[in-house]
Amino acid sequence: MEIACLDLEGVLIPEIWINFAERTGIDELRATTRDIPDYDVLMQQRLRLLQQHKLGLPDIQQVIDSMGPLEGAREFIDWLRARFQVVILSDTFYEFAAPLMRQLGHPALLCHKLSVDADGFVTDYHLRQKDPKRQAVKAFKGLNYRVIAAGDSYNDTTMLNEADRGILFRPPQNVIDEFPQFPVVTDYKAFREAFIEASNRKLSLA
Ligand SMILES: [Mg+2]
Repeated sequence: MEIACLDLEGVLIPEIWINFAERTGIDELRATTRDIPDYDVLMQQRLRLLQQHKLGLPDIQQVIDSMGPLEGAREFIDWLRARFQVVILSDTFYEFAAPLMRQLGHPALLCHKLSVDADGFVTDYHLRQKDPKRQAVKAFKGLNYRVIAAGDSYNDTTMLNEADRGILFRPPQNVIDEFPQFPVVTDYKAFREAFIEASNRKLSLA
């Protein structure tokens, strides 16, 4: 029995915070886990910036509503779901992901949650657990699944290490250099081929 665990941002959808930074012109909001590997340091900076600029969840959701999945992502995930049980493991929040998950056909998603006050301002964030992507992979292995995991960034590397097989999709050079054990793919056709290669079953591209 095999299960595919996929990162969301940078793999199926654009980076939410980068798009939001472009729309609002707040340059510091462009930072992602690619720039600041410590997720809590990164999130505290984001919440502080939102507060400073008096921006609430409706402003963020407006931007997210207008973002589509990456080109070819919907076809890719449909292909993958026809061949594997698929779970998205993300460090985003359910409140942000909802419009984009609809455009991806509502695959299963494990991520985090926000606290929002009556005026729509984000007051806090709640991580489901520490090292959530790796813990999820570990749990699936405990359920006797063979896990193939794929992601693009630093926050994916612990799940890639924990999985039976790991794949990097369009990673930055520093992640490629630091984690040479994982195959690197840059388009969805090669991504499909990497999953076929990683599987212990005979699967076809078509
Ligand atoms: Mg990512």
